[in-house]
Amino acid sequence: MEERPLLFDLGPRAITTRDVARLIKEGGIGALPDAQRRADEATYQEIRCRSALNGVKGMPFSWTLNPYRGCTHGCHYCFARRYQTQLELGSGDDFASMIFVKVNFVEVLRKELDRPDWTRELAALGTATDPYQPIEGQYMLSRGTLAALTAGRTPVGIVTKGPMVVRDIDILQDLTKAAGATVYLSVPCLDEEVWRTLEPGTASPLQRLRAVRMLVDAGIDAGVLMAPLVPGFSTAPARLEATIKAIADHGARFVGANLLHLQDGTRDHFMTFLSREFPALVDQYDRLYASKYAPKDYAARVQKTVGMLKARYGLPSGKRRGEKTESRETTPESGASTCVEHPPAQGVLWR
Ligand code: SF4
Repeated sequence: MEERPLLFDLGPRAITTRDVARLIKEGGIGALPDAQRRADEATYQEIRCRSALNGVKGMPFSWTLNPYRGCTHGCHYCFARRYQTQLELGSGDDFASMIFVKVNFVEVLRKELDRPDWTRELAALGTATDPYQPIEGQYMLSRGTLAALTAGRTPVGIVTKGPMVVRDIDILQDLTKAAGATVYLSVPCLDEEVWRTLEPGTASPLQRLRAVRMLVDAGIDAGVLMAPLVPGFSTAPARLEATIKAIADHGARFVGANLLHLQDGTRDHFMTFLSREFPALVDQYDRLYASKYAPKDYAARVQKTVGMLKARYGLPSGKRRGEKTESRETTPESGASTCVEHPPAQGVLWR
C-alpha cells in the first residue's frame, strides 16, 4: 500500500530550554539535535518557548521580552553571560557562539496580549540579549514582536547595539501612535580601540549613532545609553567628552550612563579576559571591584563628569523611563537588563 504523508504533519518539534539543558548536560553542544553553525561561527538552535512576556520586579518596567538567548555581539562585560550556566553552558565563548532562537515567540506573545486581563504595561525588549543581533535579519522575531505589541496597544522600550533597528522604523512609527515606543541605542564609548576591544561583534559606535539620527528624524523617541562605562577603558574624561559630543551631534533625545558591575559568570569571564589581554589592570580591578559594584565615591566622580558634559553639549539631564539605576537579582528569562544594567552611578577616571 502506498504511503502518503500525513496531513498536518508539522515536522519535528522544536525543543524547549529544559530539553536544551538536559541534552547539553548529557552530551555537550554536540548533543543538540539540529543546531546549525553559520558563517559567523555561531551555532543556532531553534527552541520553543512556553511564554513570551516575563514579569519582573524592582525594575522600571514590569515585563521583558527576549526572543533570543545568547548574543553574538559578545561584549566582554555582558551582564547576561552569567546566565548561560543555567543551560549548562559556559559564560565565556559559549555565550556568544551558542544562540537559541525562540521560533514560536511571536505566536505566544500574540496570545498573551490577547488575554482580557492584559494590562498593557510597558514591556522592555532586549534585556537579556540583543534583539537586533545579526540573526534577527533572518528570523525577524523582534520585528514580529513589535507588530504584536502594536496590535496589542502595548508600549515598548528597546535596548540594542544593532543599527538593524532602523529596518523597523515603519512599525515603530505605528507603535508610537498606538501605545508608545522608545529606543535606547547602547553606545558606551566612541573610541575605536575601546569598541573593538570590549564589543568585538557589534556594529561601530558611529553606525549606532547614525541609527539614532534616523530614528529621531522619523519621529521615534530615541537616545543613547552609555552603559556600561568600563573603568580604565571608557571612563577617561576625554573619551567621555568625545562620546557625549557625538551623541549630541546625532540628535539623541536623551543620554544616560552607568558603570560596569561584575558578578558571577560575568565577573569570571571579564577577569579572565583582563588577565589575558590587560594583565596590568587586574590588580586595580581586584581593588575596585572588591564587591560586584565599584565604590560609590568613585562612581559619583564619573556621574558628575557625565552630568557636566551633558550640560556642555545641550543634552537633557535627568533619567528616562527604563534607565533606573539600581541593583537587582533576576533570571535571564525574567530579563535583567544587559545593555542597561547599572549600579547606582558611573565610573572611574583612569586614563
Ligand atoms: S551587552 Fe548587549 S549587545 Fe553586548 S553581548 Fe550583551 S546583550 Fe549582546
